Amino acid sequence: MSGPHLADGDLETAMAWEPFAGDRGPRDLRVLRDSLVVARCDHACHECGGAITTGTKHRQRVEASEDGLGSFRWCHVCMLAHGRAVLGISG
Ligand SMILES: [Zn+2]
Repeated sequence: MSGPHLADGDLETAMAWEPFAGDRGPRDLRVLRDSLVVARCDHACHECGGAITTGTKHRQRVEASEDGLGSFRWCHVCMLAHGRAVLGISG
Protein backbone atom coordinates (compact mmCIF):
# COMPACT_ATOMS: atom_id res chain seq x y z
CA MET A 1 0.00 0.00 0.00
CA SER A 2 1.08 3.61 0.17
CA GLY A 3 3.96 4.66 2.36
CA PRO A 4 4.20 7.65 4.66
CA HIS A 5 3.29 10.95 3.10
CA LEU A 6 5.52 13.88 3.62
CA ALA A 7 4.55 17.51 3.61
CA ASP A 8 6.19 19.57 0.89
CA GLY A 9 8.30 21.28 3.55
CA ASP A 10 9.67 17.93 4.70
CA LEU A 11 10.52 17.02 1.14
CA GLU A 12 12.34 20.33 0.65
CA THR A 13 14.34 19.64 3.80
CA ALA A 14 15.22 16.20 2.53
CA MET A 15 16.48 17.70 -0.74
CA ALA A 16 19.29 19.38 1.21
CA TRP A 17 20.73 15.96 1.98
CA GLU A 18 23.81 15.26 -0.12
CA PRO A 19 23.38 11.75 -1.55
CA PHE A 20 26.96 10.78 -2.12
CA ALA A 21 28.87 12.98 0.30
CA GLY A 22 32.19 11.38 1.13
CA ASP A 23 31.71 8.57 -1.36
CA ARG A 24 33.43 10.34 -4.17
CA GLY A 25 36.30 12.64 -4.72
CA PRO A 26 36.02 15.79 -6.76
CA ARG A 27 35.72 13.92 -10.01
CA ASP A 28 34.42 15.29 -13.19
CA LEU A 29 30.79 14.93 -12.29
CA ARG A 30 27.90 17.08 -13.34
CA VAL A 31 24.47 16.99 -11.80
CA LEU A 32 22.04 17.27 -14.67
CA ARG A 33 18.97 17.01 -12.54
CA ASP A 34 18.24 16.91 -8.84
CA SER A 35 14.64 17.65 -8.13
CA LEU A 36 11.33 16.61 -6.68
CA VAL A 37 9.38 14.84 -9.36
CA VAL A 38 6.10 12.97 -9.59
CA ALA A 39 6.47 9.37 -10.70
CA ARG A 40 4.86 8.75 -14.07
CA CYS A 41 5.38 5.03 -13.71
CA ASP A 42 6.56 2.71 -10.97
CA HIS A 43 10.20 2.86 -9.92
CA ALA A 44 12.44 1.25 -7.33
CA CYS A 45 14.24 3.28 -4.71
CA HIS A 46 18.00 3.46 -5.17
CA GLU A 47 18.62 3.16 -1.44
CA CYS A 48 16.14 0.68 0.00
CA GLY A 49 14.82 -0.95 -3.14
CA GLY A 50 11.28 -0.12 -2.10
CA ALA A 51 8.59 0.78 -4.58
CA ILE A 52 8.03 4.32 -5.78
CA THR A 53 4.54 4.09 -7.13
CA THR A 54 3.00 6.14 -9.91
CA GLY A 55 1.91 9.57 -8.75
CA THR A 56 4.27 9.68 -5.77
CA LYS A 57 6.51 12.67 -5.24
CA HIS A 58 10.10 11.59 -4.88
CA ARG A 59 13.65 12.73 -5.52
CA GLN A 60 15.30 12.10 -8.83
CA ARG A 61 18.94 12.84 -9.48
CA VAL A 62 20.69 12.43 -12.80
CA GLU A 63 24.44 12.72 -13.01
CA ALA A 64 26.93 12.66 -15.84
CA SER A 65 30.41 11.43 -15.06
CA GLU A 66 33.31 9.69 -16.73
CA ASP A 67 31.41 6.44 -16.13
CA GLY A 68 28.42 7.66 -18.09
CA LEU A 69 24.96 8.69 -17.05
CA GLY A 70 23.61 7.74 -13.65
CA SER A 71 20.01 8.05 -12.54
CA PHE A 72 18.93 7.70 -8.94
CA ARG A 73 15.58 7.88 -7.19
CA TRP A 74 14.71 7.94 -3.51
CA CYS A 75 11.39 6.97 -1.97
CA HIS A 76 9.45 8.74 0.80
CA VAL A 77 10.81 6.45 3.51
CA CYS A 78 14.37 7.26 2.59
CA MET A 79 13.61 10.96 2.15
CA LEU A 80 12.21 10.99 5.69
CA ALA A 81 15.51 9.63 6.95
CA HIS A 82 17.42 12.16 4.85
CA GLY A 83 15.36 15.01 6.24
CA ARG A 84 16.10 13.84 9.78
CA ALA A 85 19.81 13.65 8.95
CA VAL A 86 19.72 17.20 7.58
CA LEU A 87 18.10 18.39 10.81
CA GLY A 88 20.54 16.44 12.93
CA ILE A 89 17.89 14.15 14.35
CA SER A 90 19.03 10.56 14.75
CA GLY A 91 16.81 7.51 14.73
ZN1 LIG B 1 13.89 4.11 -0.21
